[in-house]
Amino acid sequence: MSSPAPQSLHDLGFSDIEEALATGGVRSHHAKALWRALHREGAVDLTTRPFLPPLQRWVEANVGADKPFLLDAPEVVDEIRSSDGLTRKFLLKLSDGQVIETVLMGYDGRHTVCVSTQAGCAMGCVFCATGQMGFVRHLRPGEIVAQVLHARRVLKEIHPNKRLRNLVMMGMGEPLHNIDAVMRALDIISDVRGIGIGPSKIAISTVGVVPGIRRMAEEEMLIAACREYGAKTGRRIFFEWTLIEGKNDSPETAARLAKLLEGMDAHINLIPLNPTGGYSGTASRSGHAFQKILRNAGFPCTFRQRRGIDVAAGCGMLKAEKRSRAVAAG
Ligand code: SF4
Repeated sequence: MSSPAPQSLHDLGFSDIEEALATGGVRSHHAKALWRALHREGAVDLTTRPFLPPLQRWVEANVGADKPFLLDAPEVVDEIRSSDGLTRKFLLKLSDGQVIETVLMGYDGRHTVCVSTQAGCAMGCVFCATGQMGFVRHLRPGEIVAQVLHARRVLKEIHPNKRLRNLVMMGMGEPLHNIDAVMRALDIISDVRGIGIGPSKIAISTVGVVPGIRRMAEEEMLIAACREYGAKTGRRIFFEWTLIEGKNDSPETAARLAKLLEGMDAHINLIPLNPTGGYSGTASRSGHAFQKILRNAGFPCTFRQRRGIDVAAGCGMLKAEKRSRAVAAG
């Protein structure tokens, strides 16, 4: 039986790295050193790093050719420089031979990387060379992250004291057509323990893939902004989670929430919903199971008492109730 294809460490979020180490019997606190080497230092060869022995042994046993994990290290097949020297465009060859473009731009002392999110593009904008090529495949998160790391490496060579502070997704491909990989990549890129390009410094260009825009707004940028706020201010962030029976109160949802907030100094308040037409608050047994999962994941998590059910004090309840009474009376 053939062994599974190796996975790129650059595809993995912080908690996945912790999990991979734990599976190999290495304690999760070593994840920080590995994350730092990958994303802060941009290491291209982990075997030469001065890790502590348990992590060193794990790297030797697990990372490299014919091993379970590898690194994304696209090969530079061409580089074009603008005449003013401020812009460099790289043609990068991925492990399967696909070639993508990444651009490092410098204006007014600020440096920005423009990354590709797909090989080719399915959107077919008639004016666009990538669109005319057609769609080949989505990029993995690690292939997006590796472009940022490459640009940062080049910037360090030419301006050792400058930081890569801005990211635009305007290269090949429609980012929101590859939303899962893009969101994972942004999570990795914005993590302050590593690359640390904050959400306010990231721009995503789209032809208008509406479900993707909604999802970005709802999940990723909000959470990334919270992370940035927490890291800058050192303050704990309080999240209020309204528990709605059968809608958002399952153990799986609790685990997803824990993963979404992972690494953040967060406190979660659980508030069973004040009943509204068709929806009711979670029963206390399920609520406590939800709380336990979050606590086990390391988050302080408390219940807030429901107040004012009898006076319809929940948001919009009074107006809705008034409206339904008027209809019944009419
Ligand atoms: S979405 Fe962007 S990359 Fe795709 S065809 Fe249109 S302009 Fe080109």
